[in-house]
Amino acid sequence: MWQDDGLVTTATKMNESTSERTLHGARAKYAGGLHSVAADTWAWLQPNGDLGESNAGFVVNGEHALLVDTLWDLKLTHRMLEAAERAGIPRPETVFNSHSDGDHYWGNQLLADAQIISSTNAKKLMRLDPPAEMRRMRTTGRIGGAIGSLPLPVIGTLRVRGLPSIPLREMGRMMMPFDWRGIELTLPNRTFDGRMEIAVGDRTVELIEVGPAHTQGDSVAWTPDVSVCFAADVLFIGCTPIMWAGPVESWIRALDRILALNAQTYVPGHGPVCGRDEVQLLRRYFEWVKSDGVSQLKNGVPPVKAARNLLLSDQFASLPWAGWDDPSRLLPILCTEQYVRDGGQGHLRGLGRSRAITQMQRVRVDVERRHGGHA
Ligand SMILES: [Zn+2]
Repeated sequence: MWQDDGLVTTATKMNESTSERTLHGARAKYAGGLHSVAADTWAWLQPNGDLGESNAGFVVNGEHALLVDTLWDLKLTHRMLEAAERAGIPRPETVFNSHSDGDHYWGNQLLADAQIISSTNAKKLMRLDPPAEMRRMRTTGRIGGAIGSLPLPVIGTLRVRGLPSIPLREMGRMMMPFDWRGIELTLPNRTFDGRMEIAVGDRTVELIEVGPAHTQGDSVAWTPDVSVCFAADVLFIGCTPIMWAGPVESWIRALDRILALNAQTYVPGHGPVCGRDEVQLLRRYFEWVKSDGVSQLKNGVPPVKAARNLLLSDQFASLPWAGWDDPSRLLPILCTEQYVRDGGQGHLRGLGRSRAITQMQRVRVDVERRHGGHA
């Protein structure tokens, strides 16, 4: 799958053994940290690309540096900035936030004096997503983690009005690695629509809005001089994508746009650095979601049932994406697709989003039972 173009640290290959642990405590499938992906161009990787294990990047020229995305909390962002400083990367004077998910911008306050850029659409959504909400969820998660780790034959559940019961062990596991204390939302101070060129010393970086796909305002950073595309969450590699805006058709168009750049190297928002083949495979995944999943929705099958029909089938295990982490994310994809089909405006949020997440936890348990740890 992976093609070594000689530019990338070889340890970023998938499946290369490493003793490293991920933030969530799993065995790392590739090395994390700072990786040179081209001259003066770096990726910061957080294996394995699970929830909150997001990537970032640096584009450098002399004394100038651009940072593509900050991370989900201050500790993680601080760790990245320290490693960059040790590698001789100047302090970023510009930050580009690819989209509105906290794991790509909640570390902004550590670079509050920088020019911080995002698409107008992304900034609109950032205003709606206060870290206080996540701190509350983490408290729930902490309780959940404790209860969920008791040696009980069944997984505990939490009942919240208006939501399906939440499998607590799962909630706790998801939230524990992150610390949202002290975060003050630091929003972009410059926005763009469609396309924008920025200078990093003598280098030019193009910011290109390709959403809606994963979220409403998805944008990528394209560095043509070294043929590297920082694709953020338009690309999930080795882990199943999750979709909050869509529809699926629109994400396929976003992939076509980044494929048209013909980049030699793609840095995903989650997962290892990759080439065109992996982008093509993700495109095939969405074609499959469209032909086998969305078609069910069109026939009136609810998203949960449609997802179960696909994920719990015998055929699923033989598909190329069956080995990706967390196949149950197909459910939020289909929930979002249904939301858009029902005339929902743009982005699955609030109760709809919480419901999709909690239902996904249940489907995950069943998929693991049916196909083992990995499908
Ligand atoms: Zn992300």
